[in-house]
Amino acid sequence: MVQILDGTVVRSEIFARLKPRLDRLKRKPGLAVVLVGHNPASEIYVRGKIKACAELGIYSEKLTPPEWITTEELLGIIDELNRRPEIDGILVQMPLPKQVDSRRILEAVAPDKDPDGFHPVNVGNLVAGRPAPRACTPAGIIEMLKYYRIPMDGRRAVVLGRSDIVGKPMALMLLHENATVTICHSRTSDLVEECRRADILIAAIGKPALVTGDFIAPGATVIDVGQNRITDRQEAARLGRAEEFDRKGSALVGDVNPVEVMHAAGAYTPVPGGVGPLTIAMLMANTVALAEKHQCSA
Ligand code: NAP
Repeated sequence: MVQILDGTVVRSEIFARLKPRLDRLKRKPGLAVVLVGHNPASEIYVRGKIKACAELGIYSEKLTPPEWITTEELLGIIDELNRRPEIDGILVQMPLPKQVDSRRILEAVAPDKDPDGFHPVNVGNLVAGRPAPRACTPAGIIEMLKYYRIPMDGRRAVVLGRSDIVGKPMALMLLHENATVTICHSRTSDLVEECRRADILIAAIGKPALVTGDFIAPGATVIDVGQNRITDRQEAARLGRAEEFDRKGSALVGDVNPVEVMHAAGAYTPVPGGVGPLTIAMLMANTVALAEKHQCSA
């Protein structure tokens, strides 16, 4: 029987583990969320993050500078947040408007206030295996694999995608769990063959249902990071999402074919409800860990 890996269950478990740690803190952790402009997808993500803070009793502050802000002005906001002792984490919601230098902004966040784990210092800490905030989506996937007792030690893991926020940190985290890791990307030849060797296949490419049954070794664990909105009804119907399409006018699918994965895999994450809930859960975990560190050293 194929096993469905439920992200909402793992999220609840992560929250339950955070609660006693929050109770032990002298003051609430503080998370500042910087949302520039009015990108509708970003507004939804930020709402989810602030809701999770409220659920756990984490102080959150939303800053909404206008769309036309300059890099220098945004750097000023980050600098001020870096100096405020009650703010433990600063999250700058991406993407930023074109005129803003995103790299300079991310590098301006103090490494010990970086709950996304994107600062180069924290990326270096990940490479070196030192404790530091880890990128939330891959860190959540590791939590999920552990929760469902999917062995990583000595197993072959294939990471499809090499982005800085998912693919690369995912590969490093699996390596630290003693998996034998292959990273694939748009220039990989024999993609299907590479993927078919995986005991654990992580798909993070942003291409709807590109991973079909022939990519998957019988019984493999398939983790689908993709979040792709389909606006063609025929395509939605082919992927078993006609009903959702008719209700909403679009359908959300991952990078893995949702019909074929259930026949090929031993275990898989559904979309939605698989990886999605873990990202915010790990953002909360990172914020709590930063607050613990700040209060210890205060
Ligand atoms: P990204 O920055 O666009 O990177 C995509 C990667 O996939 C690149 O490395 C690219 O290769 C590779 N790729 C693209 N097309 C390919 C193909 N046909 N064959 C092989 N490799 C291919 O994407 P991302 O930010 O990592 O996000 C990936 C997906 O995960 C998106 O759907 C995104 O929405 C989703 N996501 C979900 C969560 C969540 O919380 N659930 C969080 C983050 C991201 P090259 O490097 O060679 O171009």
